[in-house]
Amino acid sequence: MRNILLTGTAGFIGSNFVPYFLEKYPEYTLINLDLLTYAGNLENLKECEGNSRYKFIKGDICNRELVEFIFREYDIQGVIHFAAESHVDNSIKNPGVFVQTNINGTFTLLDVAYKYWMDKPFTCKAKYQDARFHHISTDEVYGTLGETGFFTESTPYAPNSPYSASKASSDMIVRSYQETYGLNSVITNCSNNYGPKQHDEKLIPTIIRKALSNQAIPIYGDGKNIRDWLYVLDHCKGIDLVYHNGKSGQTYNIGGRNERTNLQIVDRICTILDEKVPTTKSYKELITFVEDRSGHDRRYAIDATKLENELGWKADENFDSGIVKTIEWYLRKYN
Ligand code: NAD
Repeated sequence: MRNILLTGTAGFIGSNFVPYFLEKYPEYTLINLDLLTYAGNLENLKECEGNSRYKFIKGDICNRELVEFIFREYDIQGVIHFAAESHVDNSIKNPGVFVQTNINGTFTLLDVAYKYWMDKPFTCKAKYQDARFHHISTDEVYGTLGETGFFTESTPYAPNSPYSASKASSDMIVRSYQETYGLNSVITNCSNNYGPKQHDEKLIPTIIRKALSNQAIPIYGDGKNIRDWLYVLDHCKGIDLVYHNGKSGQTYNIGGRNERTNLQIVDRICTILDEKVPTTKSYKELITFVEDRSGHDRRYAIDATKLENELGWKADENFDSGIVKTIEWYLRKYN
């Protein structure tokens, strides 16, 4: 039996990960630490309530006393760190909280993990040389691509938004704990996720919500910015593989080779909604171009060859099947 600390699991990706991980690993108890900011919602974890191997703690990853208490109380033997401020638009309006949570919060978790597992300034039941810190990060740390090429694990970091800069900084701090102190860590940098339980503010839920309420569907700039979309459960499976089998100190990119412009995304969703919830006119008539986001990266695309070749990862969902599942979930939520 092992107790693993998961952070930020009331948000989108974490709340998809927890039920998957609980079911797959009966030998783990999952301690969930989440501040329940506007982005966290315990409804997302309702299916786990009552499970004796699931514990939820409301609190801040920046609160060192609390983090130390959790390590001691639950004898934590692994960390999978999802918690972050994650919305680029918010980071443009209010970057301070991104620096605080994404950089200082990651530092706090790392430092406590290192001290608990390796340095032992406070009581620990055993030395946990195999205990692992898994940091969840984004492809946005690499900046923007031109019309060709892909991000690989050796692409230089060139973050353009306060969000991506704060994630890039946190990746570097993780790296430093590995290199300087020998902390067993792995980092995964993933492309844009989509699927159930994503916060309303993000692109795909916004398109569906606005369409269903007959409001303008806002698309930044010319709509030709390209993102590489991955179904959230395929991300969760990649995290599982890297957490268990990834090489210590390594970074793995996760992405499904599903490049789409924002315009293609909105067009596809409107076509599906036209079939599933027909009205007198097409939802496409609601598409409205709005002023572009400043520093808006043009194209992201992940080369996941390392994860595929080393660990045998492969996305199960293609975009066409994943987006239908996703829309069906939001139709249940919004109707
Ligand atoms: P999210 O915004 O949906 O959820 C973030 C969660 O973190 C929320 O539950 C929130 O309450 C919690 N949180 C925020 N500040 C906290 C703090 N100080 N202490 C404790 N908890 C706090 O985010 P998400 O989309 O699920 O992303 C999860 C992770 O994956 C993030 O690290 C993000 O950078 C990364 N990521 C996301 C995507 C994506 O497409 N969503 C892609 C690649 C990587």
